[in-house]
Amino acid sequence: MKYTRILCTILAMLASAAAGTALAAAKTEKLQIVTTTTDLKAIAQAVGGEKVSVTSIATGYENPHYVQAKPSFMMLARKADLWIRVGLELEIGYEELIIDGSRNRNIRIGKPGHLDASEKVLRLEVPKTRVTRELGDVHPQGNPHYWLDPLNARIVAASIARRLSKLAPENTEAFEKNLAAFQNALDERMFGAVLARKVGGGKLWAMELKGTLQEYLIARKLTNDLGGWSAAMRPLRGSKIITHHRSWSYFVNRFGLIVAVELEPKPGVPPSGAHLLKVMSRAKAEGVGLILLEPAYNRKAADLVAKKTGVTVVVCAISVGGQKEAVDYLALIDLIVDRISKAATK
Ligand SMILES: [Zn+2]
Repeated sequence: MKYTRILCTILAMLASAAAGTALAAAKTEKLQIVTTTTDLKAIAQAVGGEKVSVTSIATGYENPHYVQAKPSFMMLARKADLWIRVGLELEIGYEELIIDGSRNRNIRIGKPGHLDASEKVLRLEVPKTRVTRELGDVHPQGNPHYWLDPLNARIVAASIARRLSKLAPENTEAFEKNLAAFQNALDERMFGAVLARKVGGGKLWAMELKGTLQEYLIARKLTNDLGGWSAAMRPLRGSKIITHHRSWSYFVNRFGLIVAVELEPKPGVPPSGAHLLKVMSRAKAEGVGLILLEPAYNRKAADLVAKKTGVTVVVCAISVGGQKEAVDYLALIDLIVDRISKAATK
């Protein structure tokens, strides 16, 4: 009898110790996030902080339209608590294959473990007519390269924070704090720290969207306080550029550049000789200063146009990790602004 009681006590102690460890493990366990791109990874990391562990399917230097649905990605997705995609059909060639292959029901479209980051972003180039293959690789819901508008990164960060709080409500406070820090840092980089502190990021973005910011700054004698990306890009407003693919629309729109023509005759269709002749004559006629392309594309066509017309070729990453300087989202936009403004003032 006595021994049985002792045994029971020991077993009970062991059981409660085991339960304690399990509880501790649950508390320290990080949410496993898988993103399709490195930009989403960088933003999710900034918002999730130490409460999450994030992996990206694509690297920053490959073409995000064409990613192979490898079994290793399915293994990654199998363990994911949250899957985040760019959306607008950017991942149409591989997302379904990976999610199906993962057999993880929690990250299927429509589940809380699946987040489409495009939900609330500002979209450009939403076709008004029916999309056919004739148009090239045109996305029926709009151009999916929206992360190059810093405002969209701000919006995506908020969507991620909201979803993380739903999945791990106990960490809501931490996610909100991280989100505010990310948005503040972004606003300071966009408008300069002095102006962001004086006026407030939210108000500045609202005026930027209405197109009244410049007017406001003049009226309040704050023009000299404008810093950051806005100030660096302001002298280039209205400058005409050439891009390889239609991946720069959001950046160009935010900072007032104009794409005169693209090296691809249609999105996703490689440059042809006949089209390049047209590009060269447009470049000369419209006084184009530079050709912008990302490392994923062969630069032969750009170099040929440059040789015939004297424009400068700028190879610049459009994703985090696409070039070594682009270590996170803010550094990516820093890099793009720096490369473009340096080439333009050359
Ligand atoms: Zn594209």
